Amino acid sequence: MSGLTTRRSDLLPTPAPSSESVSRRMAMVRTAGTEPELRLRRILHGRGLRYRVNYRPANGPRCRVDIAFPAPRVAVFVDGCFWHGCPSHASWPKSNADWWRAKIEHTRERDRQTMLALEESGWVVIRAWEHDAPEAVAATIERAVVDRRIRVAL
Ligand SMILES: [Zn+2]
Repeated sequence: MSGLTTRRSDLLPTPAPSSESVSRRMAMVRTAGTEPELRLRRILHGRGLRYRVNYRPANGPRCRVDIAFPAPRVAVFVDGCFWHGCPSHASWPKSNADWWRAKIEHTRERDRQTMLALEESGWVVIRAWEHDAPEAVAATIERAVVDRRIRVAL
């Protein structure tokens, strides 16, 4: 997968990653997708659905969609529990606590803006947490895609 995810609204300065392996892992996640996302993609693929990953909408907001179905305009995001502040698994780091809180709040606000902008350009947005059961998420996605295809066909 070429092209790095442009997290342009990440305006906060980043403290140095705690280790080389952490920074490598984070870079890989940006380009290839997280493990929960990969699991979901495998299931979608198994259901015969074809999608684009890390997709930039042509006439939409500046963002990268984790898993996109451009024709029926269904956008899927698989949010990491930590980065996006999942209510069940939010674990606020103790060192640099203020920075992390600001960072995560910032991410959540960006998520909201992206979602609104995509919806304004006619996308259906599905947000999943990385802790969500991938089979259930896949079923939801498939319903949305099929529903959109039917509407488009009519
Ligand atoms: Zn979670």
